[in-house]
Amino acid sequence: MGETLVKRKESSKCSDEGTKGECPGRDGKERDTETLMMELTLMVQKVVKESSWWERKGMDCSILAAAFVCLPPAFLLLSSSQVLLFLAGMLLMGVAHAVITVKGAHLASHGALSESPAWGRFWAVFFIEICGSFSARAGIQGHIKMHHAHTNVIGLGDSSVWKLPFLPRTVYLFIAPLAVPIITPLVALAQLRGHPLAYTTRTILMITLGLLAQYWLLINVSGFQSPCGALLFMLACRAMLSVPYIHVNIFQHVGLPMFSPTRRPKRIYQMTYGVLNLPRNPLLDLTFGHSLINCHVEHHLFPFLSDNMCLKVKPVVSKYLIEKQLPYQEDSYLSRLNLFFYKYQELMVFAPPITELVGA
Ligand SMILES: [Zn+2]
Repeated sequence: MGETLVKRKESSKCSDEGTKGECPGRDGKERDTETLMMELTLMVQKVVKESSWWERKGMDCSILAAAFVCLPPAFLLLSSSQVLLFLAGMLLMGVAHAVITVKGAHLASHGALSESPAWGRFWAVFFIEICGSFSARAGIQGHIKMHHAHTNVIGLGDSSVWKLPFLPRTVYLFIAPLAVPIITPLVALAQLRGHPLAYTTRTILMITLGLLAQYWLLINVSGFQSPCGALLFMLACRAMLSVPYIHVNIFQHVGLPMFSPTRRPKRIYQMTYGVLNLPRNPLLDLTFGHSLINCHVEHHLFPFLSDNMCLKVKPVVSKYLIEKQLPYQEDSYLSRLNLFFYKYQELMVFAPPITELVGA
């Protein structure tokens, strides 16, 4: 714990001093951090301008459309009495559900699916509320206005929302995530308190519509005989990738330098010290999207980019950060899992108080 604390203090010291342009490992000359971010932004903008609509939006929209196209055959396969066909239907529906509710809802929350603000709002309600059983307003508030705006800033965007210190590590890491499909709509309902009646009614109706649609199709198309069986299947299908979903949410921020709200570093330091990329993984790239897996650093630096564009600018961003001797943090899924399993208390339970974390 002491070693980590020192590491955190060093990193935080760097980030604090980073505002003055004196991070360790650099050539000693003061650098204007605003210029660094501006230089990188111009390079990324150039890549975006040179990209086609297919690269900017089309590729990701097609993956989402393909997930919806997979749903009718999945419902039909589930009506089969052959175990293998039934399992194929279940797998197809679980993967399609993850693509729609994680990749789709995430991109929709950023307004990355459309260049029109009106369509952006429509897609946010569609993906987050109807498909994801959550409140679009709470999702955007929590993800865009808190997590992205205040990444790793203690008390604001420090990922503490994911911490459940009363749970033992095995339960937290491998069992509790299976309850995500049940917890999600309940948290959404709790978030509705104090909001206008029209908004609350719309959100409840949209969430109910999404849940009822899947239930109705399971009974009427897939031929589920009992309501309990259909509900249990919905839970199993929606929880299929919720273990890696929770893992990814904590692996890429928790354990990295945390910043003080009053002495927060400049954006380029905040994102390079406080964000980590996982390696490419075909299943997670497809279901969660590059911006949540192997391009998380790029996503935090340029959150308006689609998954495919994050992947396209990755070589430019990584080369620039390495050249400027800024961190470009990467680690494997298993290495992070190992770290969180063996240092669970330190990372997820006995987190040091704010002053210790920021080394102030
Ligand atoms: Zn995001």
